[in-house]
Amino acid sequence: MVARRQVQLRRHRSWRYNLRVSDDALIFTSAQFQAMLAHVLADRSEERCGLLAGQANRVGAVLPVPNVLHSAVAYQMDGREFIEAMTACDFEPLGIFHSHPAGPPVPSVTDIAQALYPDAVYIIIALNQSPPSVRGFRIVEGQVTEVEIETADG
Ligand SMILES: [Zn+2]
Repeated sequence: MVARRQVQLRRHRSWRYNLRVSDDALIFTSAQFQAMLAHVLADRSEERCGLLAGQANRVGAVLPVPNVLHSAVAYQMDGREFIEAMTACDFEPLGIFHSHPAGPPVPSVTDIAQALYPDAVYIIIALNQSPPSVRGFRIVEGQVTEVEIETADG
């Protein structure tokens, strides 16, 4: 009983923080956006993840990376694919995306605590709604700011 109550409180708190919205946006081509969605939808039983390479606020490449935890509630990127993706980003990812198979479309307490790249946009793709919710956030020293996600071709 106590454990369940703590989980509910934590879940509630994750919805409560004040979200500011930044002036800039992260821009995908529709093909890139669909590629990212296809990767996370290919397995709804675990969080799926990857990096975005690019310049300024334009995505240049979607780089799927395995979730070595194979967990529905956590992710960790590692292995050869992670090194290759980081190399493609010059070790400065424009974005870091992962799915929440059942969780809310905002960074979890763990996501905020483990956000190590203040310049990256953290993209959360929540699969508990149709179509999936895709939202972006900058996470700097525990402060969460929403970044608009746009698709533009040409
Ligand atoms: Zn998460």
